[in-house]
Amino acid sequence: MKTDIEIAQQAELKPIGEIAKGLELTDKDWEPYGHTKAKLSDSLLDKLKEKPEGKIVLVTSINPTPAGEGKSTVTVGLGQALTKLNKKAIIALREPSLGPVMGMKGGAAGGGYSQVLPMEDINLHFTGDLHAITSANNALSAMIDNHIQRGNDLNIDPRRIEWKRVMDMNDRVLRQIVVGLGGPLRGVPREDGFTITVASEIMAILCLATDLEDLKERVSRIVIGYTYDEKPVTVKDLKIEGAITLLLKDAMKPNLVQTIENTPAIIHGGPFANIAHGCNSIMATKTAAKLGEYVVTEAGFGADLGAEKFLNIKSRAGNFDTDAVVIVATVRALKMHGGVPKDNLTVENVEALKAGMENLKKHIETIEYFGLPFVVAINKFPTDTQAETDFIMTWCESRNIDVALSDVWANGGAGGVELAEKVIDKANSDERNFNRVYDLEETLEAKIRKVATTVYGADGIELSHKAKKQLEFYERQGWGKLPICMAKTQYSLSDDPTLVGRPKGFTVTIRELRPSIGAGFIVVLTGDMMTMPGLPKEPAALNMDVAKDGKIVGLF
Ligand code: ADP
Repeated sequence: MKTDIEIAQQAELKPIGEIAKGLELTDKDWEPYGHTKAKLSDSLLDKLKEKPEGKIVLVTSINPTPAGEGKSTVTVGLGQALTKLNKKAIIALREPSLGPVMGMKGGAAGGGYSQVLPMEDINLHFTGDLHAITSANNALSAMIDNHIQRGNDLNIDPRRIEWKRVMDMNDRVLRQIVVGLGGPLRGVPREDGFTITVASEIMAILCLATDLEDLKERVSRIVIGYTYDEKPVTVKDLKIEGAITLLLKDAMKPNLVQTIENTPAIIHGGPFANIAHGCNSIMATKTAAKLGEYVVTEAGFGADLGAEKFLNIKSRAGNFDTDAVVIVATVRALKMHGGVPKDNLTVENVEALKAGMENLKKHIETIEYFGLPFVVAINKFPTDTQAETDFIMTWCESRNIDVALSDVWANGGAGGVELAEKVIDKANSDERNFNRVYDLEETLEAKIRKVATTVYGADGIELSHKAKKQLEFYERQGWGKLPICMAKTQYSLSDDPTLVGRPKGFTVTIRELRPSIGAGFIVVLTGDMMTMPGLPKEPAALNMDVAKDGKIVGLF
């Protein structure tokens, strides 16, 4: 069996100009970044504003195994299948982070014969957006420390600085650090820490901003910490919103690439869905909707995380409709939810599968709660047996749930035609009766409770002493009307990663809150979630190499 990188290396890519031409873009609408990548102009969306929008299809999944369940793969494959059906389809994905690439999960450019290319660039440095976000974030950190060093006119309390430094790598030793050691010339000592770039508020802002002006406005609203008398201090107070926005001016432009079968793909922004809001940029999704008849986009991890935030945060900020949802399920993850240990998932086990269906059922109920038409996609793996895939098909069909076997990993677009046909039906049906989980007018606590009970199936929430105090403080600051961004494990519907299947009778522990006023939401940390992941014992990096001739190996 060929690896992803081997398949990618054999693909025939069109020059990116041809892809742009296929989208009826003029030379002014895009700029080349090499032969096969381009950036779209940030005025393109404005130019297209009178054009009607295509249908937006959101791909989500059940709670995944650590390897991922193939949402990106199905997203790319579905886009290719729609193209095969002569629909003008565009894929809108997130940019991968180097943390999972070098760590455990692998890349985020799809897999097999459903990949976005050049996958080695996309998975590594791509067009530099994540570097720009890292620089912008850390420039702000440097400005904060310099402000304190130079007399601290704003009266910033160094013990109450919320703003963290970032880097795009899993690096646990940087979670908590002390900066400014070594005497007066080396700054004012204070506790600090690193977050992974994809959890930076700058990343969220880039993904939620609708244009450059909105980006600057949001940057200026970032609360970096508090004064000694507990007043919020913003970027605007530090007068550096201009410089930070300047560092992001190119990163703000969506990136255009293509799939293995030359379907256009816009890849832009990449917040994780467990510790951040988990969706690609509004600019990318909206531009894709203006350029195509169908946009296939994805939100990270299960429907409890990415899809919840797509529907409660992103589509609200971007003011767009979601026309249909695809819920990806795999035999291996369903067996894991039925109690099979991770190293035994390739052995046929219909009984475990049957027990694991409870997890899929809960995610279906969630999408039904949102009132969106959906199709279940079984992402077929080479190790699945006929009895296992048949079981899922029958389980769905006997409940009148639309389901399709997706073989896009092995067969590209041709393996997703049935799924694409069902998605077209759903996106054009009148089944849509959209309903959000909470209203912005509700208190923060009520919003958290609703997500926990409705989306996770919890009995309720338990607030730590710190979280209770923060809730009161945030409401007093006037931040209570913002949406919430839950930080929760992706492995379970609950906040305990070991509770697989459909846990019942649990409460979600709310440990701490963080204000992301520029992004426009409040981050809610549950369980043990940390915003800087660690590397596993055997990181994926151990398999990677580059030969004398520049040929890459081991990139999945
Ligand atoms: P997600 O987006 O849900 O995290 P990905 O699409 O990134 O998942 O897939 C995770 C990994 O699993 C990738 O390395 C991909 O190549 C592999 N994969 C996905 N679908 C299949 C499949 N049907 N058969 C074999 N491997 C697959």
